[in-house]
Amino acid sequence: MTPLSLFVLDLSAEGAGRLTRHDPAEPVIPVTDLGVTRGDGIFETIAVRGGVLQALGPHLDRFERSAAMLDLPVPNRAHWTEAIEAAAAAIPEDPRPGAVKFVMTRGIEGGSHPTGWALGFLADDPSGERAGGIKVVTLDRGYRHDVAQTSPWLLQGAKSLAYAVNKAAGREAARRGADDVIFVSSDDYVLEGPSSTVIARFGDTAVTPPVELGILPGTTQADAFTALEAHGVATLIKNLSPADLVEADALWLCSSTRGAAPIRELDGAARTVDAAWTELMNTDLDARRR
Ligand code: PLP
Repeated sequence: MTPLSLFVLDLSAEGAGRLTRHDPAEPVIPVTDLGVTRGDGIFETIAVRGGVLQALGPHLDRFERSAAMLDLPVPNRAHWTEAIEAAAAAIPEDPRPGAVKFVMTRGIEGGSHPTGWALGFLADDPSGERAGGIKVVTLDRGYRHDVAQTSPWLLQGAKSLAYAVNKAAGREAARRGADDVIFVSSDDYVLEGPSSTVIARFGDTAVTPPVELGILPGTTQADAFTALEAHGVATLIKNLSPADLVEADALWLCSSTRGAAPIRELDGAARTVDAAWTELMNTDLDARRR
């Protein structure tokens, strides 16, 4: 990640959404901020291509959903849009995808309002993994498939800042010689990646698991499905088991800056990379202008 621009949004009653620009290398967030000390907050990462924030509306919708799940104040869409657009405006044309990460924490411990900021940066170039595919392992997330209904305080399905577990899963994948992870529930439902959504191809149908399993509604998966449907592909939201993943004709992990990354190995077994669907999805995803 190459940070480029940082805008802090004043979320106090008096601040009324005032934006201040900072050098991203400068220390800005106090060490007593609950985002720093507890991972208590939410975030989104939006890709910026050709100067356009891709899927801004769905990212703001998900930000609102996460805020509600964490009992944070309802984000003011106009204020956040202004901050995100300001951060995006500083991103130059580059072969790497630009991105804006925007964050709202519960604020300083003992304080009265959240902390908010939007950071513009250049993300890693996904072209290598799009062309060559990625190696993935399945890992048990340790929760049942109905955890979001039985235990909502576990915040499964919220895009919270508490990603230490997601990062640990990535390191476990590396220890097993893989690039990424598909989480599976303790009762054998396919969930999502630590920072991505699963898409599986069965014949002429694309399938992704339902958000009721305590996973994020993927903005990239939604737009990838729109792209596939425009090319006559049927799409389905449906529960999948690890055995279904073995049966699938092809598999992808998708997320905002990465697009659709085809899986070339799952749990040590070689998988067919579907270059045609990969190209179809990524062409439309990269061309999004809203
Ligand atoms: N699931 C998780 C846990 C994520 O963190 C992300 C994105 O970072 C996704 C899915 C994919 O979401 P999107 O396609 O909106 O980037």
